[in-house]
Amino acid sequence: MSQYALAPEPPNGLVFEINLEVGSKMASACGICGRKLDQKDDPLSLDCGGDCWGCVGEIEADMGDERSLTKVREEFDKGLRPGWVDPGTELPTSD
Ligand SMILES: [Zn+2]
Repeated sequence: MSQYALAPEPPNGLVFEINLEVGSKMASACGICGRKLDQKDDPLSLDCGGDCWGCVGEIEADMGDERSLTKVREEFDKGLRPGWVDPGTELPTSD
């Protein structure tokens, strides 16, 4: 009759990998497009809670926010938003 004393092995199966994005965000930047926020020479860089006005304005305009739409239209007229499509514009349907 023999007994084996089994020494408990240390549980080293738990490995935590922590991925930290370091260095990619020196200044606060828009979470959507990455534009630097609060730049004096960039009216679209206004900080809207972590995203720039350039993105937030278009999203709000898209959702039908009148005030945002008015402002976005003004900025579009000034050439600040090239490529922006007025959601009020009826697009020709093709099929
Ligand atoms: Zn943005």
